[in-house]
Amino acid sequence: MNYQTVIGLEVHVQLKTKSKIFCSCPADFDAPANTNICPVCCGYPGVLPVFNKQALKLGIRVALALSCKINDSIYFERKNYFYPDLPKNYQISQYKMPLGEKGYLELPGGKKIGITRVHLEEDAGKLIHKDNYSLVDLNRTGTPLLEIVSEPDIADTQEAYDYLTYLKLTLQYIEASDCDMEKGSLRCDANISLKLKEAAELGTKVELKNMNSFKGVRDGLEFEEKRQANCLETGEKIFQETRLWDAEKSKTYVMRSKEEAHDYRYFPEPDLPDFKVARELIEEEKKHLGEQPLDKYRRFTAGYKLSGKDADVFVQDSWLGKFFEEACGHFNRPDKIAGWLLGPFLEHVNERGRESIKITPQNFAKIIQLFCEDKLNNLAAKKVIALCINTNDSIEGIINKEGLAQVSDSGGLRGFVDAALAENPKVVEEYLAGKEQAMMFLVGQVMKKSKGKANPKVTREMLEGKIKNLKSDK
Ligand SMILES: [Zn+2]
Repeated sequence: MNYQTVIGLEVHVQLKTKSKIFCSCPADFDAPANTNICPVCCGYPGVLPVFNKQALKLGIRVALALSCKINDSIYFERKNYFYPDLPKNYQISQYKMPLGEKGYLELPGGKKIGITRVHLEEDAGKLIHKDNYSLVDLNRTGTPLLEIVSEPDIADTQEAYDYLTYLKLTLQYIEASDCDMEKGSLRCDANISLKLKEAAELGTKVELKNMNSFKGVRDGLEFEEKRQANCLETGEKIFQETRLWDAEKSKTYVMRSKEEAHDYRYFPEPDLPDFKVARELIEEEKKHLGEQPLDKYRRFTAGYKLSGKDADVFVQDSWLGKFFEEACGHFNRPDKIAGWLLGPFLEHVNERGRESIKITPQNFAKIIQLFCEDKLNNLAAKKVIALCINTNDSIEGIINKEGLAQVSDSGGLRGFVDAALAENPKVVEEYLAGKEQAMMFLVGQVMKKSKGKANPKVTREMLEGKIKNLKSDK
């Protein structure tokens, strides 16, 4: 393809405050319809908004995490439009003077995606469409949102996916938002255009809405990328418009022609003063930043020498990441700990549910250590994990009770090995004739006779030694 894709993303996240941004109604919009509302968020005449300081604090925290310049003084503006879920007929937002500007988000590969701006605004209500009528629920009206607008720096659909993943992680790490896309606390719109690789000017951009998952964003963008390339090939005009992604039909369709900013008649909100952003507030929020997802990713790949794929799992799942680090503190073999955690351990977690997991990282580390020291074989280690994952019983207790200690000494194994050879002369012949699988069978026989306790490595060595002797006796 001779075209270069240019993508910019606009993400709205609900900030994790107890109350709404301009009134004291609870910000939880799961409540029965129209119960968390008051004259302010319903936009009755004569009411006055009061700015929620916690929303400002969380907004500052996000701006800091995204390395934005925070403006000393900010103000709100009215964005005018009519919609049935917006009884005031305007949304209080920020336009000319946003909270933060000119930041970036760095991806694991090292690429920095520019952040144009982050600004505070209130959410609108929700329409619930029935067969031939619609209902209005205003619970969500006035919940605090932060809009995060990226530069058109995103070069392909996978990069858009990675950007969203790391943006979400960042917001979750600093506890600014739940970022639950299903609940609507993270929403993403995309702008996408294509241009000839050598062209300096950007192509006509199309806004894409209605993507309900990160996968939806990637799929929708992929569809648009192909559609626009096809238009360019055939000379069909690309219109600047808003299109909706239909996940079921896997296509986009036109929703409306794109509005320009002047259509909204922005003007400063007369009921709210300008706000000075105190330096102390910024300093206070810096303390909440902690370790960022990318720092953790690098620490896990460079420090623990994990693969990018494994590190990513631990970065995305803080609970698992913490368990891993604590286990490594007890037995310093990160490769083995990671392998067993992401394998057998995770299987149990997914099956039984995280709440039921009782085993401590210390006990988990002990099992892996016994395995690495050849005191438990693979099967036995898996069994011990299965037995104590919900109880955290003593590891030694389980091993003794179940008789799982690995038999590695030749004295303990000799009887089993001799029996396996005596009972399977044909298999021995096959092995002597060069059939490798025959050895696997014999090892399997010894494992069976020892009830899974035999050390497979030692067993194999003993079998090979004995067969060699048999051969030289002949
Ligand atoms: Zn209210």
